[in-house]
Amino acid sequence: MIPSIAPVPATAPANAENADKETDTDAAGVGAGAGAATAAAPAATGTGRGPRAAFGGLFAPRMSSRRLFASPGAAAGIIWLAALVAASLTAPWWLPYKTEDQDFTAILSGPTAAHWLGTDELGRDLLSRIFAAAAGTLGTSLITVIVGVGLGTILAMVAAAGERTEGVISRVTEVMMSLPGTVIILAVIGAVGTNIPVIMAILGVLISAGIYRVMLGQATSLQSQLYVDAAKVDGVSTLAISLRHVLPGLSNTIVVQSALIFAVGMLIQAGLAFIGFGPPIPQPSWGGMIQGASQHVYDAPWLMVPTGAVLALTVLAANAIGNALGKAPNAAASHLPSAADRRRRTAASASAAASASAAAPETPAAPGRLSVRGLSVGVDGGTPLVTDVSFDVEQGTVLGLVGESGCGKTMTALSLLGLLPSGVSVTGGQILWDGRNLAGATETAMAGVRGRGIALISQEPMRALDPMFTVGYQLVSAIRRLRKTGKAQARAEALSLLEKVGIVDAGRILTTYPHQISGGMAQRVAIALALAGRPRLLVADEPTTALDVTVQAEILSLLRTLVKDTGMSVVMVTHDLGVVADICDTVAVMYAGQVVESGRTANILDNPRHPYTLALLAADPHANTAADMPERLATISGQVPQPKDWPAGCRFMARCQFAGSACVAPVPLVPSGSDDGVVRCVKADELAVEGLEWVATEVPARRVPDVRSADSTVSTSSAVEKDRA
Ligand code: SF4
Repeated sequence: MIPSIAPVPATAPANAENADKETDTDAAGVGAGAGAATAAAPAATGTGRGPRAAFGGLFAPRMSSRRLFASPGAAAGIIWLAALVAASLTAPWWLPYKTEDQDFTAILSGPTAAHWLGTDELGRDLLSRIFAAAAGTLGTSLITVIVGVGLGTILAMVAAAGERTEGVISRVTEVMMSLPGTVIILAVIGAVGTNIPVIMAILGVLISAGIYRVMLGQATSLQSQLYVDAAKVDGVSTLAISLRHVLPGLSNTIVVQSALIFAVGMLIQAGLAFIGFGPPIPQPSWGGMIQGASQHVYDAPWLMVPTGAVLALTVLAANAIGNALGKAPNAAASHLPSAADRRRRTAASASAAASASAAAPETPAAPGRLSVRGLSVGVDGGTPLVTDVSFDVEQGTVLGLVGESGCGKTMTALSLLGLLPSGVSVTGGQILWDGRNLAGATETAMAGVRGRGIALISQEPMRALDPMFTVGYQLVSAIRRLRKTGKAQARAEALSLLEKVGIVDAGRILTTYPHQISGGMAQRVAIALALAGRPRLLVADEPTTALDVTVQAEILSLLRTLVKDTGMSVVMVTHDLGVVADICDTVAVMYAGQVVESGRTANILDNPRHPYTLALLAADPHANTAADMPERLATISGQVPQPKDWPAGCRFMARCQFAGSACVAPVPLVPSGSDDGVVRCVKADELAVEGLEWVATEVPARRVPDVRSADSTVSTSSAVEKDRA
């Protein structure tokens, strides 16, 4: 009689791991590719304030609304439900008959001009009764949704916040789930009568135990995120963390479950009315009308059709909405491309690359050589993020992509692997690899390149490692998949790879889980994983940034050895000129989505021709020897402009100490005069000849406590007084 009240798991569970992926500082700086990245930032930093910040994720359904209306089924479902509610609420003004009016001349009639949907066994108009009953049915189903989903979500958030509470709540919900729902509902009817709102509320309480189980896993996962730890350190209360960081991540599941429970509620109500526990007679109900029609199946079969069809359509509408919401990305993972996005992006990239190729005929690159020519990356819809980037990486060499956050380094690197975030695609240029242009490659073609031809290691090694599986399982699986070898051979190869990346106790590490090893060890394992397919090019996105100095040096040394021993090439994304000097053969300095200077590392570091390179070196403590260490390191005032603010002329002009009137026109890349280097500055030659240096700008005296003073306390406090003044 009563359908199963176990909730259906969400089809789009919150991917909490993905919420942790927003460390792409380049993406964050460069616009809308970064839009997705920055969207998560307030929640991640815990600095959002006010109700909108606190409940930011609950506005996620608004983001999903486009997808909702893009689904024909969901759009039809919304229209049907809205029309039904509107018709039901306005029924007294437009219905031709009252629900209890009887027409004894038209008993059990089919559709007629007087009764559009026919009449029942007492001559009552079916159309009037169906619409009069709709509001009550939908309204009481909503009570089940509010109580069931609301209570289940609150319990899950409370349980996820504390281990002890979780134990208690889980035991209670297990008891609730073991109770026979039908018997309890009948007992409630015996106690309170056919009070439908109360019955549906009790039903909601029973359903909440199942909802709790669905929500708990996601809420616990969200509670273990790094940004939640950061919020705790900041002193944010448990309640605020639950509202600000956990609830938004649950929003998609909440709306999906609500739609499904709404449909279940309607069916349960109809079932109760069918067995005589509906609203009191003569008040109409869908279940009661179906029950009445069932007694005239043979003499008046039409009687079953209108009410049954309306009930079925309403349940279908709720399910269609639930399905569409389930396919929408979760707020926490809204930056990830959906399958449709990926298909669209591949088509867009292919057409952009095709038109670019037509303009610049493809030049086959030598095997093992990467040639990027005029690469442009932009947000779908127009905003450019990277423009006209060109560089070559010869086999067995290391290229450094260097620049501040927001200069387009990571976007450039990710485009080599076809891993640009949702809404961002290659808009022009060529990525020539193995005689192919990867800029226009399909997703299938890129899947063949990733791992085998080009591999990736990222800043955060734990991104590459699944916490659910041992290192050995992940490494052996990757080797078997990429090299098509047997299990025993893959295991032997995994041991050899771990030894190659400098892990002494390789046998033991194979049996450990990622959380059982240190950050440096995890990065070595991630490198071993990247080497599983014997790639000829490794894209290393700030691989040492998250590691301490000693481990950084070890990892750089390892990469150097790998390049030497295997002939592999590396594209090293970094903001650290020390890393560039240490490992890179060539370097491309990027600023605001452009390469502003490139060439051999020694030439660039010894004789920088672009003011931005000059400034980066002046700001780097490693670039100065102890003897000539300036009293104060230079800074570059201002910040990298957003893509929408890029000027038509030199993009560095607003921060450049040497800017002049000639810099307002677009600046081309020209040979820098040293080897095959190029530079994008109208004053490059002038600066080289005059040997100008980037000057450290004055810092207001009140911000510099005189630490050399014998009485520094006095000096600092006087500075504070000046500040107050
Ligand atoms: S072109 Fe002008 S503004 Fe740009 S880096 Fe050169 S001197 Fe500075």
